[in-house]
Parts: sequence; structure tokens; C-alpha cells
Amino acid sequence: MKPETVGRFAPSPSGIMHLGNAYSALLAWLSVRAAGGRMILRIEDLDPDRSRQEYADAIRRDLLWLGLDWDLESAPQSARTRRYAAAFEQLAEMGLVYPCYCTRAQLHAASAPHASDGQTVYPGTCRDLAPDARPAGRAPAWRVRVPDEDVEFCDGRMGPVRENLARDCGDFIIRRSDGVYAYQLAVVVDDAEMGVSQVVRGCDLLHSTPRQLYLYRLLGLQAPEFYHVSLLCAPDGRRLSKRDGDLDLGALRQRYSAEQIVGLLACAAGLQPTPAPVRAEELAEAFRWEKVTAETAVDIRAWMETI
Ligand code: GLU
Repeated sequence: MKPETVGRFAPSPSGIMHLGNAYSALLAWLSVRAAGGRMILRIEDLDPDRSRQEYADAIRRDLLWLGLDWDLESAPQSARTRRYAAAFEQLAEMGLVYPCYCTRAQLHAASAPHASDGQTVYPGTCRDLAPDARPAGRAPAWRVRVPDEDVEFCDGRMGPVRENLARDCGDFIIRRSDGVYAYQLAVVVDDAEMGVSQVVRGCDLLHSTPRQLYLYRLLGLQAPEFYHVSLLCAPDGRRLSKRDGDLDLGALRQRYSAEQIVGLLACAAGLQPTPAPVRAEELAEAFRWEKVTAETAVDIRAWMETI
């Protein structure tokens, strides 16, 4: 028997959902519903400075307005820090974790941006720092050592992906200097513990996946399948951001119906030939990943003009 499909929405409550978030959420929901699976909502409020309760409420409201429901809401990440601490300890006991005292400015100066996508690579400054060389009175961030070997996986939408952690990223942070556990660690612990079998999210997180697969391996956890979907862009190719406030769900709800927005997103995704209004649940039965566009960026404003 095929194991149950379990997917998740994992929004960060640091703002109102914009059209790009809705696009990823629609595809995540369709993929789960088409497989008769279960959907989990998990609020990723790890960063206390950026997370706000009213954004979490607005995200729930906007998902439901779009017709994207869930079967279970997990505890938010802020309530799960003991789990992350346990995973952190597990890695520390393996001798793979070390404190890093580099300041943001030092990191910026020392690391060459990675050629292909502007990611910076940590040069290993604090990797072998002797305990008596550690600066006093400064709280360190904590990094996990990475090996010089390739991590490979097959993305459900994009096909084979390969990255060398040492070359493309370097030792990465799993706990920040303010004590907050890093997204990379928390998301692995959560997805594994919640039995998530498929992760659908924007291509902006594609380069996080090799790091996460490395953590799955170290922690002895079962990794899900990954589907990284297109980013919605402005006509000049720039990613949608807060600057495009007219494309957040708060503004769009004033002007369009949920069916119009879902129709637009479905068309941009390649799931229907025109942006005709449609309900999400009407798309679920015929959904297949093979139909989803292979583009990495989709100009959404061009489509918006047609609805
Ligand atoms: N919380 C992350 C975000 O909103 C998503 C994490 C994920 O899907 O893995 O960008």
C-alpha cells in the first residue's frame, strides 16, 4: 500500500500573504488533495522580531478565502524549541557543531558571493578556533560542519539537483547568536516529526534543500519529496516583494473574487489555458505535476491584465 501523502503549509507570519505565497500554497494544496492526502498548517514564527499574531490570523483567513483548507494545525514553531534543542544536542554530540563569532561585516568582507546565485559561502573562519581564542563576552552563533561532497536529489518539478555543501554554502548556522534556532534545523525536525511526505515551496528555497537533506541524514530522519515551484515576478523579472503591496491578498480581496485569483494562479501554473475563474477544489481531481509549468519565473502582471 502506498503511504499516505502528507503535505504542509509553512508560512512565516512576517507579513500579509502575497500572490507568490498563494501560488505555492495552491500547488501544495492541489498536490495533497489530488493524492487524497492530509494537509498540515504550521506557523513558522521562529523569529520573534518579525513574527506577529495578526499576520498569522490574516494568513489563515486568506488561505481559507482561497479555498485552501488544512486537516490539522500543528503547534507553532515558537512552542517547539525543545525539539530543536534536542536535535542541536544530537549534532553537537557528534562533534559537528562549533561556535562562530564572526560579525555580519566580517562575513560580508570574507566571503565571495557564490557565482551562480549570489549566495555567500562561509569561509570557515571559526571552524578551528581554539577555545582560548574565543572572544569573551560575545554570544556566538552555532554552525554545523559540512563535508566536501555532493548532495543530490530529484526535485519533483525541476528534476535532478546537485550541490556541494562545502563549495556552495560552507558550514551553516543552526542556531543564531540570539539563541533562536535556525530555519534549516527547525524545518527538518518539524517536517520529519509531523510525517510530512512532500514539501512544496518556492524556488527561492531550492538551495536550502541540500542543507536540509544533510541534516536529515545526520539526524537519521526520513526526508520528504521536494517540489520547488516558480517564483512570480514583475515584468522586469524582479521577484514580487513588499513593494508590490497591491498584490498582497489584503488588496486583491478588495478587487477580485477568490475564483478569479485561483483562476489566474492556475493559468500561470499551466493548469488551465486561460485565467477563467475557478474554485481550487474544481482543479484538484485533474491535478498532475507533469502539467505544471517548467518556468522558474512567471510574470504575473502580464496575466493580471487579462482578468
Ligand atoms: N516559512 C518559510 C517561508 O515562509 C517556508 C519554509 C518552507 O516551506 O520550507 O518562507
